Amino acid sequence: MASAASINAHTRYEAVIGLEVHVQLLTATKIFCGCPTSFGAPPNTNICPVCLGLPGALPVLNRKAVEFAARAALALNCRVNETSIFARKNYFYPDLPKGYQISQYDKPLAEDGSIEISTEKGAARTIGITRLHLEEDAGKSLHDGFPDSDQYTYIDLNRAGVPLIEIVSEPDMRSPEEAFEYLTRLKEIILYTGVSDCNMEEGSLRCDANVSVRPRGQTALGRKVEVKNVNSFRFIRQALEFEIERQIEVLESGGNVVQETRLYDPGAGKTSSMRSKEEAHDYRYFPDPDLPALLVNAAWQQEIRAALPDLPQARRARMVSEYGITEYDAHVLTSTRALADQFESAARAAKNPKRVANLLQSELLGRLKARNLEIDQSPISMAGLSISADLVESGAISSKMLKDLYDLAFERNQDFPAVYEQEKPQQITDSAVIEKMIDEVIAANPKQVEQYRAGKRTVIGFFVGQVMKASKGQANPGLVNQLLERKLGS
Ligand code: ADP
Ligand code: ZN
Ligand code: MG
Repeated sequence: MASAASINAHTRYEAVIGLEVHVQLLTATKIFCGCPTSFGAPPNTNICPVCLGLPGALPVLNRKAVEFAARAALALNCRVNETSIFARKNYFYPDLPKGYQISQYDKPLAEDGSIEISTEKGAARTIGITRLHLEEDAGKSLHDGFPDSDQYTYIDLNRAGVPLIEIVSEPDMRSPEEAFEYLTRLKEIILYTGVSDCNMEEGSLRCDANVSVRPRGQTALGRKVEVKNVNSFRFIRQALEFEIERQIEVLESGGNVVQETRLYDPGAGKTSSMRSKEEAHDYRYFPDPDLPALLVNAAWQQEIRAALPDLPQARRARMVSEYGITEYDAHVLTSTRALADQFESAARAAKNPKRVANLLQSELLGRLKARNLEIDQSPISMAGLSISADLVESGAISSKMLKDLYDLAFERNQDFPAVYEQEKPQQITDSAVIEKMIDEVIAANPKQVEQYRAGKRTVIGFFVGQVMKASKGQANPGLVNQLLERKLGS
């Protein structure tokens, strides 16, 4: 536990964080050959002379990978360079058959982007994106799972040559929470563009975190440590928390932070040194002579930009103004593109979109989560949701009744209208009974009666609602409407 002294020290330092994120693109084939990218294929089945790096095999760039990378870049507010260059990053490792990785170096595909995040205090901050470039993935070393794993490491080259984008941020984040928020927003944007599934378990999103500390008020950056291969956003936050604490302690005890690469052990909650700066690779980058300059001209960029979907931030703003929902609701409802699409389809069909937003969040999402279902697996369809919202809106059913009907819908795996038809309360079709209720409602609401008689015909909805409520949802709505029109008109 942090002592009072260390908490004190903490406030005198500021953390500086920059993130490097690798995202696997959802192309059907690899970046420089026609091999499939499918995850989970038997080892070394998705391979060919190009991705095996056999002598004489030449790379041919996958146009779709470029389009996807440019789409992500534009969604992240980057400037896409009309000309960029593929470079060889040279290093020796068993999972890298060519002895170099084709990447981009001093002329990347895209630069100068940004992501807006909200800080713990609720304010908005802009985090700069230095660059976004295209590269190929390496293969995978398999250290366990074989009878002779104690003697050998196996190599699966299915992943070698799978297209990646690397997104490098500016050192703009100031706390582990901001790094977490940046990653959340980044993932959300990438998911909206549809260029990756960002599945961290399958390695289609990977993050290296760079972190340093400096005395508050100092502008020069402190010496950074890179924490590699942390496989969840939560662990990245924890690794950063640990690392910031560790670096402050080093400085407080009069030492210097060593520039190095460290690994995070989630079990122990600690980072430990993997290699120092002295052991760092010299990659001897140079332009790949087998690949011409990559050209993404203005016309192609325009085409890609035009096809961009409504991105989360813009979509939230539009939803707030279009449906009158709160900023908070908009955040929840845009957390995935599928959810936002579903919400909007229901909101557009319903009389009161705000009620749809409320019901979706308070009644539907929780029930789905409890059963581990995605929104598109919901027994209650969006049409059902909007119908139920309208019934509550008109007073035909109470909120309590709606909850019961939703429970039944989930129990029986039936959509809302079907359950409602089976379970709806016995209807009152006796005009005399309904008329009595109408008289009471009319007597109790002289102002609305006046409005109606002055020509504001829409007030009829209010009266229908009141009568439905008075009848506990049991009056026949058609009859209520008909009788109301007659009585109010007279
Ligand atoms: P390297 O030469 O080690 O690759 P770069 O300058 O390319 O370092 O930066 C890599 C990442 O580290 C970027 O995301 C950048 O924002 C971040 N970074 C650079 N310097 C620092 C620092 N002093 N503290 C924290 N992050 C940093
Ligand atoms: Zn191949
Ligand atoms: Mg670098």
